[in-house]
Amino acid sequence: EAAATAVRAQALGKRYKDKWALRDCTFELPAGRVAALVGANGAGKTTLMTVLAGLLRPDEGAAGVAGRVAFVSQEKPVYRHFTVAEMLRMGARLNTVWDQDRAGRWLERFEIPLDRPCGRLSGGQQAQVAFAVAIGSRPDVLMLDEPLANLDPLARREVTAELLGEVAETGMTVLLSTHVVAELGGVADHLLLLAHGRLLAGGDLDELLARHVVYTGPRSDV
Ligand code: ATP
Repeated sequence: EAAATAVRAQALGKRYKDKWALRDCTFELPAGRVAALVGANGAGKTTLMTVLAGLLRPDEGAAGVAGRVAFVSQEKPVYRHFTVAEMLRMGARLNTVWDQDRAGRWLERFEIPLDRPCGRLSGGQQAQVAFAVAIGSRPDVLMLDEPLANLDPLARREVTAELLGEVAETGMTVLLSTHVVAELGGVADHLLLLAHGRLLAGGDLDELLARHVVYTGPRSDV
């Protein structure tokens, strides 16, 4: 049976002044999957996610997301002067749906102190706080811009495993960006490959691998 579509982009384009950062992007993400948005620095990953999340208006085409979106930005994921607990309280206030247990569990899992101001956490810990808040909002689609960039290899594996657990439990769809294909380490089953703002390949990872479009290294089954 055909899976429901979680994210749809139709001839999507976005330019800054007269430079196109994104052009003619058409794709669909099936619901309940983990998709990786892969591309070099400047390929347009952040622009695409920001447009999909509805934070930036496209100059061409259209984008649609089924349900509620949470977007974790690469820069400034948390407020420095807020403690971790205050970030959770803000999540509870700003989101129409809030699951305190879920957010709390994530922070506990990664041993993030609740009373610490976010500015005094490491970059990796700040990212964990942002993930916890995003997951607490129980999104249908979770978009993470370079979520693994600030994490050490162990944390990377743990975050990946936790994310897959959340996906299995809630059926949410995840779109995460990276410029390091090796980082994908078994997390994604769907791929969007972006270069100079254009989609070079998109689709089921195994199908793409079978067609030798890309090679992403060995995948572990979780
Ligand atoms: P990175 O991995 O370095 O974050 P990216 O793949 O996320 O890169 P984008 O940040 O989307 O790429 O940038 C795509 C292109 O658009 C780049 O050429 C960038 O310089 C340009 N760009 C991005 N934001 C702006 C902006 N606010 N104003 C002007 N140009 C921008």
